[in-house]
Amino acid sequence: MRTKADYPNINPAEPQGLKHDGSPYGVLIVDDSMFMAKQLSQILSSSGFRIVATASNGQEALRQYQTHAPAIDLVTMDITMPGMDGITALEHLVRTDPEIVVIMISAIGKDDLVKKALLTGAKNYIVKPLDRKKVLERVVQTLNR
Ligand SMILES: [Mg+2]
Repeated sequence: MRTKADYPNINPAEPQGLKHDGSPYGVLIVDDSMFMAKQLSQILSSSGFRIVATASNGQEALRQYQTHAPAIDLVTMDITMPGMDGITALEHLVRTDPEIVVIMISAIGKDDLVKKALLTGAKNYIVKPLDRKKVLERVVQTLNR
């Protein structure tokens, strides 16, 4: 039986979640769906990113950002959440930190809300359902801008 050692060059790519200095990018994941948050967390952490914190609504996201800001390089922000929604949370975050990197996570067919988020200061967006390749592509593309 062949083992991984028979294909040494199949996946030479370095973990995408690492900065040039080798330290991981820190991520704050905001989503009211535990399933989505877990899925995102798995995709990102398996690629070298560090999940600094998670939040299940806008208010909690602002609190977590305040607590962990220096360690957070990227925020993934669900749009529809009970309590404070993702666009409102985004508005607060951008006001606090105009350079913040936020990627919106949107359900399909929410083009107007995505557009509003991009005008508000979100750097990019990903449409659900989440696909590992698509998520990593968008995230890396956004961080390297
Ligand atoms: Mg949601």
